[in-house]
Amino acid sequence: MTMSDELLNWSTRWRLSAGVITCKSCQVRQEELDQALNFVHSPGCLNCRFGTTPWVELAGLVPSKSAGSIGLK
Ligand SMILES: [Zn+2]
Repeated sequence: MTMSDELLNWSTRWRLSAGVITCKSCQVRQEELDQALNFVHSPGCLNCRFGTTPWVELAGLVPSKSAGSIGLK
């Protein structure tokens, strides 16, 4: 997959807004300050089988120089 495909894939599961990532399935939120912690989904969340570190995933997908354009930093 290309980087943009993976970013699209990421964005089908998570929403990023003002330094907070929200799971699109269970609506649980995690602030950027807590990015080192495991993301804890609600029981039965469809996204819980995917990664529990959305910030780390996102950082791996987005080149640091373009992070500002999607609302990081
Ligand atoms: Zn969830």
